[in-house]
Amino acid sequence: MAGEPQPDCVFCKIVAGEIPATVVRKTERTLAFRDIAPKAPVHVLVIPHVHYANAAELAAAEPGIAAELLAEAGAVAKDEGLRDYRLIFNTGAGAGQTVFHAHVHVLGGTSMTERMV
Ligand code: IMP
Repeated sequence: MAGEPQPDCVFCKIVAGEIPATVVRKTERTLAFRDIAPKAPVHVLVIPHVHYANAAELAAAEPGIAAELLAEAGAVAKDEGLRDYRLIFNTGAGAGQTVFHAHVHVLGGTSMTERMV
């Protein structure tokens, strides 16, 4: 069923406490933890507890949780002392998505002025 935990999903396992993670923030509906392979001095992932394949699917099904995901990403940046930061939603394997549970990357702590779009 939509939103239900998926047995082979690494992020569902983190939500369930079956895989350890360095958690930096937690709400009833979201979890923020440090990326296991950081691409910047600050690299935190914010995910919903519920399983949707990507952020667009989450927003379509659960707009309130999608909004909370964004608010939590901003709160992570504030907690980490970031004034400037980048939020990334990789969507689809061709865009580099490797974990198909909605998440937003919060990246910062270094200059990221190179434009990608
Ligand atoms: P994607 O490429 O946008 O799907 O991002 C998935 C991210 O999850 C990658 O940056 C991985 O390094 C990260 N990741 C995968 N497994 C774990 C884990 O067990 N803990 C923390 N981060 C993870």
